[in-house]
This record gives sequence, structure tokens and C-alpha cells, in this order.
Amino acid sequence: MRKQIAAANWKMNLLYYEAKDLLNKLKEFKVENENAEVILGVPFPYLLLANEIIKNKNSFYVAAQNCSNHSSGAYTGEVSTAMLNSCGINYVIIGHSERRELYCEDNKVIAEKIDAALTNNVRPIFCCGEPLSVRQKNEENQYVEKQLSEGLFHLPAEKLQNFIIAYEPIWAIGTGKTASAVEAQSMHAYIRNVMAKKYGVGVADSISILYGGSVKGANAKEIFGQKDVDGGLVGGASLNASEFEMIIHSLK
Ligand code: PEP
Repeated sequence: MRKQIAAANWKMNLLYYEAKDLLNKLKEFKVENENAEVILGVPFPYLLLANEIIKNKNSFYVAAQNCSNHSSGAYTGEVSTAMLNSCGINYVIIGHSERRELYCEDNKVIAEKIDAALTNNVRPIFCCGEPLSVRQKNEENQYVEKQLSEGLFHLPAEKLQNFIIAYEPIWAIGTGKTASAVEAQSMHAYIRNVMAKKYGVGVADSISILYGGSVKGANAKEIFGQKDVDGGLVGGASLNASEFEMIIHSLK
């Protein structure tokens, strides 16, 4: 059975003492569902702190929000996946729309980052999703399919087993506007089908496909209740302990 996941993306928010305070609140949360996982995507300076605070907590993991596509060397300001692995970090968010847009990351660089992560046993959370202009033309399926094929299709099937994909329509990120449960389910089923055509139904069914875009305590249950929605990647609402707790408890 594939994992149901509540992943937080704190982005560039919270000072050290605020991060510590939030992590200490999250530490108290109970995850009753055996199939559920919580992944905390925190800024680089807080990765070790987060790992330390949640170290004895079952089903809680820490993620970096980015990594280098290079393995080591003269790349000032970059962080390699080998470094993440050496700090005990298990996950990394790759291909977030903000990285794609603001830092000009294309599918090629994203594919290289995926390879770098897998090489160093850091599990990628691969993000995809269309801008509003593409959805208005009803071309979101082709757009997302291209992101999947250029970002992931170079990988052999065994690397995609139990993989994590986050579908985040850009028009829903940080806007307060969510995709409806029906829109989310439709794209998630499409993504699973694209993966099934390339890798077979067994692999496709093992992939956790998370929805991202203004998920909150109040809408999580309906969205996560959809057949092909296996939890969420949550920005704004993950900065609030009680909102994020409601989201965790909305996992099926
Ligand atoms: C995100 O940044 O991945 C995200 C989905 O943000 P928000 O939940 O704030 O829309």
C-alpha cells in the first residue's frame, strides 16, 4: 500500500527560535495511521535542528527544499545531496515551481538533481504543475506530462517504486485558491496513468502523488479523500501547528 504523506514546505520563513518552537509543537503530534508519514521541508540552517527534535518520532522525516545538481566542488552557496545524506536528511524537494520560475530551473537541471539525490540515498519529492495560462487553454495534461517525461523518464523502473510526486498547480500556490477535489483527482489519475504507461501499473500504484496548492485544515480531508490523492505538500498552512495537525489527521 502506498504511503499517505503530509509534507510541509516552510519556504524561506521563520527565524531560528520560531522554527524551534514550531518543531517542538510538531514533536507532540500523534500519527495514528500506520501508513502515514510526515515530512518537514525546512530551510537549510534548521535541518539538523529539525532532525534532532524529531529523531525518536516514528513516521516523521526532514526534507531539504533544494539541492545542487553537482556532486561537489566550486559551487559557492550550493548544497550537495551527499552533504544532506551525511547530515541524516532523508528527503529533498526538487522542481518546486518557485525554483523553476525564480531560479530558472528547467527540466534538464531538475532531472540532474533527481539523479544526484538518488545517487546519495536522499529521496526526492518531485514537483510538477501548470501555470494558469496553460490551464486556461486546457493544456495542463500535456504540460505536466512533459515535466514528468523530461524530469523522470530517464530513470529505470526500480527507482520509481514508492516514489513521491507532488502535483502543484501554480495558480493555486499561496493564492488561497485550491483546485477542486474533482480537478485534483482528475490530474492525479492522469499522472498515475502516465507513469503506468511508462513503468507499468505496479510501479504507478506504488507512487504517492501529493496535492499542493492552498491546502488547509478546512479543505484537506476532501482533497485527500480522492482516490489518487495521497496527501499534500503544504506551504502556508504548515507554518501553523494546529492547521498542520488538522492536515496530518486528514490523511486517509
Ligand atoms: C507550496 O509551496 O508547495 C504550496 C503548496 O504552498 P501553499 O500551500 O501556501 O499554497
